[in-house]
Amino acid sequence: MQNKQIVVIEDEPDILEVLCYNLEREGYKVFESLDGSEGLALIKQKMPDLVLLDLMLPSMDGLEICRQLKANQRTQHIPIIMVTAKGEESDVVLGLGIGADDYIPKPFSPRELIARVKAIIRRSERVEQLDNKDVIEIDYSELGRLVVDNSKHLVSLNNENIKMTASEFRLLFCLASHPGQVFSREQLLNHTSGDNVMVIDRNIDVHIRSIRKKMGAENPFIETIRSIGYRFLDR
Ligand code: CA
Repeated sequence: MQNKQIVVIEDEPDILEVLCYNLEREGYKVFESLDGSEGLALIKQKMPDLVLLDLMLPSMDGLEICRQLKANQRTQHIPIIMVTAKGEESDVVLGLGIGADDYIPKPFSPRELIARVKAIIRRSERVEQLDNKDVIEIDYSELGRLVVDNSKHLVSLNNENIKMTASEFRLLFCLASHPGQVFSREQLLNHTSGDNVMVIDRNIDVHIRSIRKKMGAENPFIETIRSIGYRFLDR
């Protein structure tokens, strides 16, 4: 198997070293940069399978790099994980809105880092399969088999139907068709009120609470990401 390639842009040498060491140990081919615009050039040159991106960087900040990658047809498919410091939650929300895929808060454990990287690479490989699907079927072994059918507007868990309101259904469909992906509230609003069918109540949190209750309060399908938004459970 060909090694997956990752570009890491981080201006703190110690953190860069930790990131690269752990990724290389896991078998990834890593290219690194301490500088924003140099890092952007490196991405365009290497066309990696994933980018790990610090936000505060010299010469060009991480959000701008993200913006440029997503605006360019050649690079817009490359998944981006932001590596963020405490207090950058609002930048994370902005980044997700621009098209970043996920974020890892500092300090991170190597285990968490690798798990996140693997999940994002795996997801980017199957994103097309899920993206145009009308029926989402995920087998969560111990939690049961979840089916979210967009054409019939049906949700079932272990063959038991769960009644959802129209707004709840659209939110759930959006989250469940991107398991593991973090969505900000703003993104969820955009995803669920994109067409003219219905403008959903802006209070996302109320809907989420109700969805959770209906799916069984003890089932951890929807994770709250503090100060950011929500993420649906990945298998
Ligand atoms: Ca930095």
